[in-house]
Order: sequence, then structure tokens, then C-alpha cells
Amino acid sequence: MVPFVDLKAQYHSIKPEIDAAVIQVFESTQFVLGSAVAGFEKAFAPYCKAEYAVGMNSGTSAIQLAILAAGIGRGDEVITTPFTFVATVSAIDFTNAKPVFVDIDPETLTIDPAKIEAAITPRTKAIIPVHLHGRPADMDPIMEIAKRRNLLVIEDAAQAHGAEYKGRRIGSIGDMGCFSFYPGKNLGAYGEGGAVTTSNPDFNKRLRMFRDWGSEKKYYHDLKGGNFRLEGVQGAVLGVKMKYIEGWTEARRTHAARYNAALAGTPYRPLNVPSHLRHVFHVYAVRHPKRDALQAYLTEKGIQTGIHYPVPVHLQKSFAELGHKVGDFPHSERAAAETLSLPMYPELTPAQVDEVIGALKDWSGK
Ligand SMILES: *Cc1c(COP(=O)(O)O)cnc(C)c1O
Repeated sequence: MVPFVDLKAQYHSIKPEIDAAVIQVFESTQFVLGSAVAGFEKAFAPYCKAEYAVGMNSGTSAIQLAILAAGIGRGDEVITTPFTFVATVSAIDFTNAKPVFVDIDPETLTIDPAKIEAAITPRTKAIIPVHLHGRPADMDPIMEIAKRRNLLVIEDAAQAHGAEYKGRRIGSIGDMGCFSFYPGKNLGAYGEGGAVTTSNPDFNKRLRMFRDWGSEKKYYHDLKGGNFRLEGVQGAVLGVKMKYIEGWTEARRTHAARYNAALAGTPYRPLNVPSHLRHVFHVYAVRHPKRDALQAYLTEKGIQTGIHYPVPVHLQKSFAELGHKVGDFPHSERAAAETLSLPMYPELTPAQVDEVIGALKDWSGK
């Protein structure tokens, strides 16, 4: 039996430290924000090579508030890809800006920079590349287009803690980087959590205000904000985990290298990862036209898998109002039909990885 993820294994590996840090929050009664959150923000910003990190109550809130902090809203357009978790698009929609889709490059599963310019209109204000599965989007051409067309870049780094593009940390390349600390993410809280990284002091200030009802001084509200604050317990858990994230990331990369070595050149078509990327493998995906049959076979063999994601956002019922149809973004549609996420978490053993590889090699359906 190989589980898809195992959060319990990680908790048990650091239980005494986590328990002590959480009890410390209870004793301090700083349940919301407070010193545990501030301490985590001070560690997470330099980890992302950014000046500031602002803790939020989710990754979705992080994207939403980054858009608000940038002054984007009703009447504006924001470009992203439909092959993402729905939150990227929901966050744009919640600010009353309009999501505009650009298809992915099928060889990277991230936004195709060559297709961005055609989607820009006089209303376009920002591009949100998604570092899907923990693989950095192709940032150089994205930043070049943004600079030339006077657009902001907000990175959806919810799956990409510690990832690098040409030696630069994800979350420090665009104007803002949005992270999720949902429990299953590479850096996971014990509940909901998120953060925005930035090196712009004005964005930092506005993000802090928006998460706290638009106030800098208690009961004086200069902006229309809301309640998007990170809890003390989550700050404490994340603060402990900062010591381990690099080791966990390297373990993911080692498992991915083992999968890659065995599966390259097979019908499972793992993505090629060039050496200028530090892919952090939130998800390790293979691709196969008979994906659903493959998943059923692996389930039967006791190997849990996932699908990230089965329906591209332009075909979700909730976004029918955007008026898209099947065929509009063919590479996203094909990826949604063909990708399968294999077991991936730091505590996997080489023997478990080999069990998955063995089952894939044995499958007669390929
Ligand atoms: C998880 C995720 C989000 C949302 O983060 P939450 O913390 O779950 O709100 C946004 N974008 C992507 C790509 C994600 O994977």
C-alpha cells in the first residue's frame, strides 16, 4: 500500500517541537497574528528572497489581497491559465476583476508566454503565472512582456515554496508572490494559512491593512479591508517547519529523480525539467491517454493517486459566465484528461517509489 500523501508521518517526525510551540501560543493567548505569526513572517520572507511576507488565512486570500493591494478591481482584466486549481480564478473574480485565460505550454503545464500578448487589452492590469505542481513558470519572457506592457506580475506560488528559476526564488521575481499553507502543501499549517511575499514597501503596508479591515491603527479604517488574518497556532507550526522545509524539498526532488530515471522515454511521458529550474514537486505527474484506466489499475494495486485537475477552469460550471467552450484551450483540456499525480511526499521510501514504478511497468494497458 502506497498512500498519496502521509501528513501523520511528518507530524510524528517533529511532534515534540510542534506540541511545545502550539502550547506556547495557548499560554501567550496571542491566538490571532501575534509574535508567532510575526516570527514566521520574518523567517519566510528571506526564505523567498523577498523583503516582506504577510501572513494570511489562506492561499486564496493571499491572491485576492495581492490583487486588491495592486489597486486592481472592477473593470480590470487579469490574465492567468485555466489549468490551475480554481482558487486562482476565484480570487480574481472575488475582487470583481475579470479573469482572462491563456493556454498552457503542454511541455511545462504552465502559462505559454508566447500566447500572452494576444490576450492583453487596454483593461489588462496583471498576469498571474501559476507555478503548477511546484515547477516555476517561464518567468523571463513573462516579466519582459509585463515590463513592456506596464502590467504587474503576481505569482501563484501556492505549490512552489522554495522553487527557483535561474537561481532566483519563486515569490521574489514578480511584484508579489502568493503562497498557500493548506496542510497538504509543501509547507503546510495545521489548518488554513497563506502569505504574500513582496519587496515593495507600499504593497507590504496595503496587504497588512487589507487583512485587518483596512486599518493601521485600531478602529481607524482607511481602506475597505476584511478579516484575512493568520492565526497564532498556524504561525507557530509554520515557524517550526521552516527548519525542515529545505530537507523535505530535497527529499521530494530525490523521489522525483527516481521516478524520472525509471519513466523517461516510457509511454508515461514525465515532463522534462531543465537544469535552470528548481522544481519542488508538490505534485509528480505522468501523462497517459488512458489515464482513468491507469488510475483504476493502480488503485487495485494499493497505490493511491490524484488528478490535478480533472476539469480546466474555463469549463467549470461556476465560470460558465465567461462564455468558454470545449476546444478554447486545447492544451489545458488535454492535460486535464491525461495527467495523473503519483504518490509524492518527503517521507516516502525508495522502496515505495520502486513499488509504484514496478506497477507502472507491469500495466498491460500502456
Ligand atoms: C492550494 C492552491 C491555492 C489556494 O490556496 P488555499 O490555501 O487552499 O486557499 C491557490 N492556487 C493554487 C495553484 C493552489 O494549489
